Amino acid sequence: MRTITVLGATGSIGQNTIDVICRHPDKFRVFAITGHTNLNALVQLALQCSPRYIVLSDPQAYTAFAKILKKENCHSEILVGAQALDDVCCAPEVDTVMSAIVGAAGLLPTLAAVRTGKRVLLANKESLVMSGELFMNAVREHKAELVPIDSEHNAIFQCLPHDFEYGNLEKSGITKILLTGSGGPFRTLADESFDSITPDQACDHPTWTMGRKISVDSATMMNKGLEFIEAKWLFGLHEDDIEVVLHPQSTIHSMVQYVDGSIIAQLGNPDMRTSIAYGLSFPDRITSGVEAVDFSSLTDFSFSKPDQNRYPNLYLAIEACKQGQAATTAINAANEVAVDAFLKGQIKFTDIAKVNQHVLQKTDFIELTCIVQVLEHDAEARILAQQIVRKLN
Ligand code: NDP
Ligand code: MG
Repeated sequence: MRTITVLGATGSIGQNTIDVICRHPDKFRVFAITGHTNLNALVQLALQCSPRYIVLSDPQAYTAFAKILKKENCHSEILVGAQALDDVCCAPEVDTVMSAIVGAAGLLPTLAAVRTGKRVLLANKESLVMSGELFMNAVREHKAELVPIDSEHNAIFQCLPHDFEYGNLEKSGITKILLTGSGGPFRTLADESFDSITPDQACDHPTWTMGRKISVDSATMMNKGLEFIEAKWLFGLHEDDIEVVLHPQSTIHSMVQYVDGSIIAQLGNPDMRTSIAYGLSFPDRITSGVEAVDFSSLTDFSFSKPDQNRYPNLYLAIEACKQGQAATTAINAANEVAVDAFLKGQIKFTDIAKVNQHVLQKTDFIELTCIVQVLEHDAEARILAQQIVRKLN
């Protein structure tokens, strides 16, 4: 029986996680769920999975939330604030933590889980992008078990040999990691239409259903850029080992190429419950509620190289990855500010790349040697990004 804390339970990944968990009451119990603003969803999830604790990251929501819980006759205990987020990750009863808070807010609780040696199911790619080397050092030092949930990295994890040694591609006969991406909703949109893209259009992903921030990141392909950085740290790769391939059908979730000419791919329908189920049950397999791919209905199966003019954010992120930790922390922060401003109607879709590029150019290439420094660097990049947003607005 695994005992699980689900960070960001009210989000797309969080709700899918509870869905998979509830299919296997004999295998999993929920210790805690956490939410931020969506109190109604949090109550419904609590009724569904009966956690011991419910954590509200915003303490001000306590009174309203306690009333709803009482009305619904739900007996979970309410905790509030940042320390409580850490506590439900570190509790000795917990062996597994799903990290599914969006953005930089996910870093500290995820690190708390890593530092107590839990199995960490990592959906929050931003924490690795922000603190890659420090994060992976903590994983090794505290013997945490890190299982990637992002579908591409989960696919790579499945395609690597079981004795894969971190960073040692040659020993395993690996020549390349092929990271696939759909290209998002604007893959074939005429160039002149990019300026008038609305938030709802950007969030309408052709193959995946996700939260709004990652949906915009998928439309700009910054998501693939963040995943490029994520892959580097997760598997100990060099930038030249990773190739991004456009695959609009999202059936192949990524691939590993071997020295003998073999390429091993993981295929599946675009539904995150497959990755989540594998993370929860690894190395075993459990049902996830996802049907296998029906090959008779696959009419098209295509691949191409992403166009630099159409997807400047992808190439900015790869550039940041080559520059190092300070650059990836800065571009991640800039991108969060820019996407938020775009979703609020303050800047245009095409301005997101301008904000990211500007912040990247202005970043000092200092060495970030501890998490406090990472957070300071993140905060500075946010201030710079906000200044540019105000100019563009
Ligand atoms: P959602 O926007 O759907 O959910 C985000 C979750 O984080 C919600 O539970 C939200 O709470 C919570 N949250 C937001 N801000 C804060 C904060 N400041 N403090 C604490 N909690 C907060 O996002 P997704 O589920 O789509 O994505 C979650 C993570 O997983 C992201 O890092 C994303 O990149 C990654 N991911 C997602 C995939 C997907 O298919 N969705 C695929 C691969 C990776 P509330 O809703 O209550 O406000
Ligand atoms: Mg992904």
